Amino acid sequence: MNIPTPVRLDEKYRNLLLEVNSQQDIPTGWQGTPIESIIMAQNFGWPIQASGGPELLIATCIEFRYALPVPRMYAYVIRRASGRVIGSEFSVGYTLAQGVKFLAMIGHNDCGMSKVHDKAPDVVNAFVEQGWRREVAEEYVRKHAARHAISDELQALRDEYIRLRNIFPKLVIAPLFVCLHDCRFYIPRWYQDVEKSVTNVELFVPDELVSNLP
Ligand SMILES: [Zn+2]
Repeated sequence: MNIPTPVRLDEKYRNLLLEVNSQQDIPTGWQGTPIESIIMAQNFGWPIQASGGPELLIATCIEFRYALPVPRMYAYVIRRASGRVIGSEFSVGYTLAQGVKFLAMIGHNDCGMSKVHDKAPDVVNAFVEQGWRREVAEEYVRKHAARHAISDELQALRDEYIRLRNIFPKLVIAPLFVCLHDCRFYIPRWYQDVEKSVTNVELFVPDELVSNLP
């Protein structure tokens, strides 16, 4: 099994991630919220006390090397390749209707979607083995690999964070980054700056933003 280099030793992430070594390292806007709870559970093993109602929406990758630290009766979870929720905005809306006010977006290092084009032939073969005609499988994979591909995990998280802030301006969204080596959360260094820049986002979402959703 492939366990990647810890992000704190990986040149790729040098100066791009902030460690969370204590409760004080958590941004004030997240303190006392379910986002703080999931960070403390992930990094320090603090147990999460489920109230019985849904408190949090978690969006993360399908990645099998990462398991969520949450009990049942606590969180809705959207797991999709790369962790982006493009095409699942209705699911987000559904959870809001159930009372959710917080979204934890969890990116990770060594994401398969950053090399999806290399893996495309294997994916085509997997469909062919299921009985798909090869040309049809190739066309399908070409279309969806392009849609799922990311060039950089942290950049993709940033882009998706900004996109979701604009579509769901009243939702508290926390971009987090999990290191697959030790399964600890980090906070992207860009978070505070990006948060400031989108904080005055219009509370009326432009119609075209909604009609252009996939
Ligand atoms: Zn992934």
